[in-house]
Amino acid sequence: MLKDITSELKVLIDKQKLDSRIHELAKQISTDFKNKPVTLIPVLKGSIFFAVDLAKELDLIFDMEFIEISSYGNDYQSSGNITVKNDFQGSSSDKHFIIVEDIVDTGCSLSFLTQYLKKFNPLSISTCILLDKPERRKVNVATNYVGFTIPDKFVVGYGLDYCNHFRNINYVGYLEN
Ligand code: 5GP
Ligand code: MG
Repeated sequence: MLKDITSELKVLIDKQKLDSRIHELAKQISTDFKNKPVTLIPVLKGSIFFAVDLAKELDLIFDMEFIEISSYGNDYQSSGNITVKNDFQGSSSDKHFIIVEDIVDTGCSLSFLTQYLKKFNPLSISTCILLDKPERRKVNVATNYVGFTIPDKFVVGYGLDYCNHFRNINYVGYLEN
């Protein structure tokens, strides 16, 4: 049985701040893609809570295609050895793709994804990231919409996991190293 880490978590971003920032991001994306064909591409599993809340606030007509990648060497660091796990169908080539990710850390996952999705010939590829951890970046990646820039801490909650658990915590918390 996994230890309950809830009481050890410190709040980094509370629910109210998440809600209001997501509202702003949705407004910006809705303006930028007004009357354009959009496919929203949430990256499973971490982005799911963010993607759903964002999607509900978008004033656009769009479809959603989920992509699942495996990138983890261990719980704290991306391995850089990335594969697509699900049978991602892409969508027609006449769409603007918006990748929705929970967090950009080294940048390896987002860089891989952007390259991978190019083969579907979308009209454009944009990235919408809830959390940006720039201190640990190894690969340069374009982040078009960023919720919050955060320090180098291991964060849990609002989709982000600890040993694949605790994604349902309704704030972004962190564990002291
Ligand atoms: P990157 O490829 O940019 O190094 O890592 C991206 C992925 O690593 C994220 O999608 C996420 O799954 C995981 N990750 C990076 N930092 C954290 C973190 O602080 N907490 C959790 N739970 N996952 C993280
Ligand atoms: Mg992820």
